[in-house]
Amino acid sequence: MEIRVADIPPEGLFFEIEEVPEALEWRGEAIPFVGPVRGWVRLQMVGERLVVKGEVHALLELACGRCLEPFPYGVDVEFMDEYLPMEVLEQEGDEVELSDEEVDLAFYGETVLLEDLYLEKLYLSLPMKPLCSGDCKGLCPYCGSNLNLGPCGCSPEEIDPRWEVLKALRNKLVKK
Ligand SMILES: [Zn+2]
Ligand SMILES: [Zn+2]
Repeated sequence: MEIRVADIPPEGLFFEIEEVPEALEWRGEAIPFVGPVRGWVRLQMVGERLVVKGEVHALLELACGRCLEPFPYGVDVEFMDEYLPMEVLEQEGDEVELSDEEVDLAFYGETVLLEDLYLEKLYLSLPMKPLCSGDCKGLCPYCGSNLNLGPCGCSPEEIDPRWEVLKALRNKLVKK
């Protein structure tokens, strides 16, 4: 939904969010949603600053970083952002030197997209290496079987001697 910034009344705008987007598309990635995105977003002008507050909850399908299996991952985000009008940049041109605080600021044009205001928040709160469970056993390094489903039957004799060296090294590190 596109919102014209000039149309935001002094008391602000409030939106209840309940929608089922197909996927969280962000910078070339598409992460599927398992259920609706729920929450709210409030937009308010404070002087020329656009202040956006909100809270969103979603259930996404991530791939486990160890066993690679998809699993549902719940995200809850609360956020508050401030946007400055784009003209601030345009008027002052190249001369403008942003202070450290301002470097982090975002800018708005004539309109803003409601979805963009909160989908980015969901994306940024996803873990770098998601795990389906804290004790996920991952994949067998020899045959690639998912060890959460049971032992794969790789016997120690079949193990490549190069792995043995690594195993010995790991045992040494663990003991320290
Ligand atoms: Zn896993
Ligand atoms: Zn195996």
